[in-house]
Amino acid sequence: MTARKTQRATGSRPRPRRAGRRLRRLVTPLLLCAGLCLGTAGTAGTAQAVDSTVVTSTQSGGRTVSFTFDDGPDPTHTPNLLAVLRKHNVKATFCLWGDRVRQYPHLVRQIAADGHRLCNHTMSHQDLGGWSQWQVRQNLEQTDNVIRQAAPGARITYFRAPYGSWGQSPQVAASMGMQPLGWRMDIGDWQPPGTAELVRRITQGVTPGAVVLMHDGGGDRSQTVAAVDQTIPQLKSQGYTFDQPAVR
Ligand SMILES: [Zn+2]
Repeated sequence: MTARKTQRATGSRPRPRRAGRRLRRLVTPLLLCAGLCLGTAGTAGTAQAVDSTVVTSTQSGGRTVSFTFDDGPDPTHTPNLLAVLRKHNVKATFCLWGDRVRQYPHLVRQIAADGHRLCNHTMSHQDLGGWSQWQVRQNLEQTDNVIRQAAPGARITYFRAPYGSWGQSPQVAASMGMQPLGWRMDIGDWQPPGTAELVRRITQGVTPGAVVLMHDGGGDRSQTVAAVDQTIPQLKSQGYTFDQPAVR
């Protein structure tokens, strides 16, 4: 009531001045929002925009390594991998398919609850190479949404393009607050060559600060899980510690 009376009382001022003030009152917040709100439009509350560089190294550098796992969650191999990582007290990064997140939301909750980092890997492992920014954004937002539905409050720190076919996706992902995440070393577990061979590749091929690409989904990943179990103690004995991929 008081506010209304005050408004009416000030309403007796000369028209031109009142119109000018009203206009300023309307325009100022609009201009402010145009500057501040555009950068986060459509990101449903994700963090601020990051650099669109595709990172391939760890946050800290030095004698550190980042394990990243693509194409899950998988109902068999992801729980086994989580148990191995828990046993060795190692945190990793999981690049998730939206479709599989929908199928196995409890696994995404478990990944997040265990303190691992989440990475958007598109809804259905699409090749984004020729897509427009608008098309990429639709897919990435849908994927983020299903991940958030599965694990409310979880932060989606990274985005990785399927097949390494980046197209325009780094700019879109960065504008949504996700760091484009590449890799320095691919262990080639897509066609499993045997656990011993995977262990050899990792222990002999890893370099300080490397982001390592592996898979916990998309096929029989039991060799990968066994290799991770054997490799972690070896890397630790070589002085390696486990770090997250860089965020810029
Ligand atoms: Zn993939």
